[in-house]
Amino acid sequence: MSSSSTYSGDVTLNGDEQEPVKIVDPENVHVKSGAVDGNLKILNAEYVYTNTSAGDSVSIDSIETEISGTLEDAYIEKSSITGDVVIVDAEDVFIEHNAVTGDLQIVGDEKRFHDASDPNPAPRDHYDDSTTGWKRSLSVTDPSTGVAVIGGQNKAHIVDATHDFDVYITGWNNHVEISGQRNTATIHFIGSENSVTASAYTDVEVATESGHDNSVTVKEFPINDLIETTKEDAYGSRFFGREKITYQEPALDKDYCPNCGANSNVMIQRRQADVFFLFGFAVYHFDTGGVAYECEECSRNAQPDVELTESERKDIF
Ligand SMILES: [Zn+2]
Repeated sequence: MSSSSTYSGDVTLNGDEQEPVKIVDPENVHVKSGAVDGNLKILNAEYVYTNTSAGDSVSIDSIETEISGTLEDAYIEKSSITGDVVIVDAEDVFIEHNAVTGDLQIVGDEKRFHDASDPNPAPRDHYDDSTTGWKRSLSVTDPSTGVAVIGGQNKAHIVDATHDFDVYITGWNNHVEISGQRNTATIHFIGSENSVTASAYTDVEVATESGHDNSVTVKEFPINDLIETTKEDAYGSRFFGREKITYQEPALDKDYCPNCGANSNVMIQRRQADVFFLFGFAVYHFDTGGVAYECEECSRNAQPDVELTESERKDIF
């Protein structure tokens, strides 16, 4: 006995439907890793973004459950379909890595994006956290394996990252912001107009991009992290007598580092001065010391300005 259900808005498939299942005319469909145990057939979609390779033609038995109506987003969760699924006339379909155990067939799509460069990233259910939906927000502190964002216009903030981890973004116009210290974030994009912004202390590598107009921005190195003592502080703390003072200033006139040769415009000059102070005023400079340069590559101060526990310090140094 087959059933037909009419919905408006979003629909999530969790495993209550009798297979084969047919989804008719949805806007966006998100097929998560491990979602379909049988075959998946996609007919007449506009854009298909897939990290699962499409294969041979599949035949599907007569439909048991039809889902139609004014569908917006459809989410097919992990382990939710033990049989087959047909998706007809979708606008965008996003298919994660290893989403289909059987075969995937895509017919009549207007445009298809498939990047096979990283075939097996860590499974998403090993990740620290994830969010699925529309305009949601997620905050994760120091993930150890990964963070996943699925849907549209979601925002994830990953803070105080000290480990290497994956970021898996499925869908459209999601944004992920990363602040970290000496770690690597490996990014997997499926979809369009997603963005990742990272602090200068995080290395970002894009491992997969099935899609278009996704972007990664790494913020400029914070030059104040290289400065221990400003000129103002060095002079301001003296009152009377002859003193040797040291301070650091931004070096704005160099585009490579005289110390290590790196191409960098984030650089400081270390200065020394031998000064006689009278009632807080520098009244005489005995000589002007040399200038030493340091950049973000060679400075021993090129570390994020955070308190670390002892074990974290051991990890870093
Ligand atoms: Zn340098």
